[in-house]
Parts: sequence; structure tokens; C-alpha cells
Amino acid sequence: MKITFLAPIFIACFVLISGCKQSTPSSATEHENKPAAPKNIVLVIGDGTGINQISALEFYKEGPIYYDDFPVVGLSKVSSTSLVTDSAAAGTAMACGQKTYNKAIGVDVNGQALPSITEYMAQKGGANGIISTSSITHATPACFFAHHDDRNDHEIIAGFLPQAPINFFAGPGMKYFNQRTDQVNLMPIFSQNNFEIDSILRPHPEAEKVGYLLAPEDMPKMSEGRGPFLQEAADLAIKHLTKNDRGFFMMLEASQVDWGGHDNDFPYMLSELIDLDDTLGFLLNFARRDQNTLIVVTGDHATGGFSLSADDDSYDKINPTFSSTRHNADWIPVFAYGPGAEQFGGVYENTAIFYKIKSLLDL
Ligand code: MG
Ligand code: ZN
Repeated sequence: MKITFLAPIFIACFVLISGCKQSTPSSATEHENKPAAPKNIVLVIGDGTGINQISALEFYKEGPIYYDDFPVVGLSKVSSTSLVTDSAAAGTAMACGQKTYNKAIGVDVNGQALPSITEYMAQKGGANGIISTSSITHATPACFFAHHDDRNDHEIIAGFLPQAPINFFAGPGMKYFNQRTDQVNLMPIFSQNNFEIDSILRPHPEAEKVGYLLAPEDMPKMSEGRGPFLQEAADLAIKHLTKNDRGFFMMLEASQVDWGGHDNDFPYMLSELIDLDDTLGFLLNFARRDQNTLIVVTGDHATGGFSLSADDDSYDKINPTFSSTRHNADWIPVFAYGPGAEQFGGVYENTAIFYKIKSLLDL
């Protein structure tokens, strides 16, 4: 009864409010109506990071939760041409704007290369950066610099990087470049393409392009002492990429949340999530100072059928539960902060993330 009684009042209020909006003087100029556009975009991908993973931060992270600081949230539908995506198809959707088959790295269902956001950005004269805690040749980062029909061919994928339009990268995977089964050493090819490569994360202020290959295959887990690699790499990346007057695009991946999910290892997953969240704090600090950078944070899919269910005996206790060792088909949240953030509200396919970024960077 109460709801029925109040409904007309709510409707009346809504009409009043929308009426006010419509009565805004029509003298507002075109310029004022033009949506805000950022100079730089950072796309943060938490691999295997769905809403249940993120929610775990509320109950298990001590200290601030930086996901809370994003004013705009949307939802992304992540199926590939299969119902449940892998990281390659989801990475391709976000890097290239097309749904494809699982295992595809920047190629369509026929194996044809799809132009990627980093290629468009380079054509405009902007700079690109890639950071990951999995091998830089792993599915998610690979979609932002390579085109190949199978994610498992790490050495072939590595071969794309020296000549890709990437100005900064940091991650593990050294062995795919200089200890290859085919005996080819890609280090001289990096040099020929004006890359300085280091195995220690330290500044290279004079380098035209800089790459850090920090471990043979994958970065250690947080619990194994990785430390604030993501933040330190992001800091170096920003210092390098902001030298370009035409702006930058950066993809930063917290790769190992997914691996904790596959392993059904809650402490592993949680420590990787906390590292991701702390990295968001660092990036938000930069974006607040810079005023010209849009931060978009999403996942490629959730993993492990993870949920925060009540303990059998008490609603005052949560029992973090995995129901699978594989990926989920769930919608995935997208968080945005900065100029153009409002474009990321609503419900859309993961391919729309590519088109929104492309449009906001005027590519
Ligand atoms: Mg990944
Ligand atoms: Zn996975």
C-alpha cells in the first residue's frame, strides 16, 4: 500500500527534476556539451577478477580499498565465440574490438590480424606501455602487441615485441627472448629497434624505448616476495610515456589473481587482489594530479566459481568458496575515473571497451 501511495510522488519528483534539466537554457554552447576526453588512458585488467573477487577486499583487506574511489561503474559481457572466454579471446576483444575464439591473440575467427588499440595509438603519434605479472608473452599482454592464432606459442609471440609500436614494457618472460628453443636471440633485434632492455627495474631516462624483462618465465607471487612491482613499473612507465606530448595508452595487468582462482587458493588470490588494489591507489593518485588521464579497471573474466557464502553455522562468518577450477561466464564490472569516465557506465559487450577507448583517444 505504502509503495502504491508513494509512487506518484516519486514520479512527480522525477518529472520535476527532468523538467528542470530540459529547461536548461538552450544557449549552452556546443563546446560545453562536448564530452570530456582524456589525453592518456590506463586500462587495468585484473585477470580472473570478477565482482566476487573484488568484494573479498571489503572483508579481507586491511586499509583503504581503492576500487571504492571510482565514480563510474559499468558491466561488461565477456563471452568469446565460446560461452566462456579465455584470457586470449577476452584480451583480443579489449585490444582489438572483436569477439574471437579462445586462444586467439589479436586475430579474428579466421586467424586474420586485427588492428589493435596500440597500433592506432602509434599511428596518431602517441605512446604505448604494457605491464604484466605473467610473462609479457602471456595471453592478456600479448593481445596488445602480437597477432597469432595460438596463445601457447610464446616464442612466436615474443617475436612480435621488438618491432611492435610499444614504447615501454615491464614484466617477466625473458627466456622467450634470449633462451629460445630455436636458438634465436631477440636482444639484438630490440637494439635495432631502439629499445634498451634491462633485467632490473631502474630508470632509463635517455632511452627512446625501454623494456624490462625481470624473470625467466613469471613474476614471483606476492607471497614469494614480489613486492610492489606493479606500482614501481607503473611509476617508471608514466615517467617514460608522459614524455610524449600526444598522450599515452597503457595496459597494466594483475595476471595472477586468475592463477589463485584456478588453484582454488584463496590466500594466493587475495594477496594478488590486494596488490592490484594498491596499484589502483597509485594510479588514482597520478590521475588526480594529472587531471588528463582516464583510468579504466576491469577483468577479462572471473575464475574459480568463487563466492563469498555464509558459513554453514553463522551469518557472521564468510566462507570463501570455489566451485570450479575454470573460468566463469559472469558479467564483469568496469570501473572508471577521469575525463570520459561516464562513457563506461551501463551494460555492454567487452568489445565496447575497445571502441570507447578508441573514440576517447580520437584514434
Ligand atoms: Mg592474463
Ligand atoms: Zn585463467
